[in-house]
Amino acid sequence: MARNTKLSRATVSAIVEELIDARLVREARVGASRGGRRPTILELNPDVGRVVGIDIGATHLIVVVADLRGRALAECELGFDIASGPEAGLDRVGRAVDEMLRQAGCLWESVVTVAVGVPGPVVSKLGMVVAPPIMPGWDGFPIQKYLRERWAKPVYVDNDADLGALGEWSYGAGKNESNLTYIKIGTGIGCGILLDGQIYRGVLGTAGEIGHVTISEDGPPCTCGNYGCLEAMAGGRAIAQRAQLAIKAGQRTALTAISAARELTARDVAEAAKEGDAVAQQLLSDAGRHIGSALASLINLLNPGLVLLGGGVVGAGDILLNSVRAAVAERSMRPSLQATRVDVGSLGRRSTVMGAVSLGLTHTFHSYVEAG
Ligand SMILES: [Zn+2]
Repeated sequence: MARNTKLSRATVSAIVEELIDARLVREARVGASRGGRRPTILELNPDVGRVVGIDIGATHLIVVVADLRGRALAECELGFDIASGPEAGLDRVGRAVDEMLRQAGCLWESVVTVAVGVPGPVVSKLGMVVAPPIMPGWDGFPIQKYLRERWAKPVYVDNDADLGALGEWSYGAGKNESNLTYIKIGTGIGCGILLDGQIYRGVLGTAGEIGHVTISEDGPPCTCGNYGCLEAMAGGRAIAQRAQLAIKAGQRTALTAISAARELTARDVAEAAKEGDAVAQQLLSDAGRHIGSALASLINLLNPGLVLLGGGVVGAGDILLNSVRAAVAERSMRPSLQATRVDVGSLGRRSTVMGAVSLGLTHTFHSYVEAG
């Protein structure tokens, strides 16, 4: 440890002693001698406390109860309607957390930190979203304060795509890559930017809103009030709307039968594309081209080592990914392109919630160290 941290051996032992006193680290066993005294092997004590990670989406809710190594002890994914507003929505979140703690066999007393991802621009200091395009009724609602008072625990609120980047970096496809961006293509499109191993949040905390980069100056209206944003052309909602238009125009597609029964979603389009439906494939390929154009700009600006795609639309097949890669290859500068891999995240729908667990763990360790 002294070698890796470049701290003196005495400093390291003092810190380790503090961590042992806080029960955060424990002596696991005595290791084999390499000439001198036999070393004591230390390990993190995963059972000192529990961390709750929450991913609030526009249409889904995921809750994970994890130990201090980030292992999930209980986990659920439920349907969710963000438009039900903050009070009803957070009430549902509270019930889901209670149920997961019960399933994990934990009491609230064992919870040390809670971290929550939300699909809107988060002002970090205030723990609230401001002018969120796809969170009607949540503008300015003090999510962090409300949950802190409800649970009497440290609660942290962050953007879902920022947490997606953190999740993939901590547990997924982004391990060992400290300059990465994670693009979440859900109902909207968000982006988490990790630079030198730190989430880049900007002055307020709202950095990474790639969904509202202009792709076409006279394009369709966007939920943010602008026109021709990436999200309005290639987000999940836009993909579903374009599928409706294709059906209206009389194009032959399997989606017609689905839309007769219920409202189409982007996931329906992705599934149909996977089954070989030509109209659905064209829709995804168009969306991928727009996303790739925006990504080419991002790659030129930031020169990341890795760009990961995530969110509900990405899971089904390679059509979207291939189309994104083609547009990126066509439009980014050659040196940055050569240094950048574009791939799909490995945590699937869990990227954000595992990022929340990771954020919760970071705050937990900081608080232990600060408390001495
Ligand atoms: Zn917009």
